[in-house]
Amino acid sequence: LKSKLPNLEQSIFSKMSQMAVAHKAINLSQGFPDFEADPELISLMQQSLYGNYNQYAPMGGIYSLREAIAAKTERCYGQTYHPENEITLTAGATQAIYTAIASTIYPGDEVIIFKPAYDCYEPSVIAQGGIPVLLQLNSDFHIDWEAFRKALNSKTRMVILNTPHNPSGTILKDADLLTLEALLKPTDTLVLSDEVYEHLVFDNGLHQSVSKYPGLKERSFICASFGKTFHITGWKMGYCMAPEALMKEFRKIHEFVVFSVNHPAQRAIAEYMKDSSRYEALRALFQEKRDLFLGGIQGSRFAFTPAEGTYFQLLDYSEISPQSDLDFAEWLLRDKGVAAIPISVFNLNRQDNHQLRFCFAKKSETLKRACDILCRL
Ligand code: PMP
Ligand code: GLN
Repeated sequence: LKSKLPNLEQSIFSKMSQMAVAHKAINLSQGFPDFEADPELISLMQQSLYGNYNQYAPMGGIYSLREAIAAKTERCYGQTYHPENEITLTAGATQAIYTAIASTIYPGDEVIIFKPAYDCYEPSVIAQGGIPVLLQLNSDFHIDWEAFRKALNSKTRMVILNTPHNPSGTILKDADLLTLEALLKPTDTLVLSDEVYEHLVFDNGLHQSVSKYPGLKERSFICASFGKTFHITGWKMGYCMAPEALMKEFRKIHEFVVFSVNHPAQRAIAEYMKDSSRYEALRALFQEKRDLFLGGIQGSRFAFTPAEGTYFQLLDYSEISPQSDLDFAEWLLRDKGVAAIPISVFNLNRQDNHQLRFCFAKKSETLKRACDILCRL
């Protein structure tokens, strides 16, 4: 059998999480919370299961949830997406990303991806016969717009953005999006904007959704995740928003990838979103966790720039060890009992900058135990 993805290995998230279980390490590797979802949301899910919600949902998702998403987008970004034909519920952001790519990328199309990048973009492009054009971010994880301008050509069908950015925790600024908007103006290049961490932004920072830039909005698929937002990664619930013409093509693929997604979960989330204060509470919760983690590693030999967004913090261990990040991560897990993600695997040519990614979406006691160990290195 000729593989469509011959170079694909086991994901680093699965590998590190499996090793963390085997070695009983504190798992700050794969990005998921170790605390429970809000009991109110669980109770709404129970009500859905005992209600009349156990058969197929409509293909695009239940209307009340699409309306709730439209209202939230209007409230947060002042932008209108029509529930009828511009919003589709998906099985997590992963399916939204895959579907957006599958519905628009033809063999030979180029897709610009900034590295380090989350791992699902490249395989999704390659599976369609597309060509990933990989551009490394600067050492402070900002986009080199001159390099981007040079890479852009008549074959560039799509640019993939991710803000707040996994794994670096940086966010795109207004100036970045204005530059992109100007550069794309004369082209018909599409944008796929992965905004799964949109509500996890710290220190009064502002998430700049591409929806706020008219020249980007008209060409963008925006992908979001309830797993990330409401700590329910196991529910695999997300959505995609795009202008009608793009969404029409998206739904043609969506219908035959999955048809429709988890009906009881959609109803529970729609009810839960009726209270708009949920989002502010989230920001405060994660700010507290980031600050606890940063406070905990003050005085350690790790160097870092505080994450502006996401629930990840990069730590530079150059002062502690000369090892490669893969070796250092394995040593930290096996010998010291803390699991983290080596980020060279997401870099162009596996460039190794001696940085590990730590997930701080964890209970206070988990973070304290991990910080005690990290401070002794
Ligand atoms: N994009 C990014 C940047 C992520 O970190 C993740 C992982 N959670 C996803 C997409 C996938 O989200 P989901 O779990 O909703 O499929
Ligand atoms: N998004 C999660 C992370 O970055 C991982 C999800 C997965 O394992 N696919 O850690």
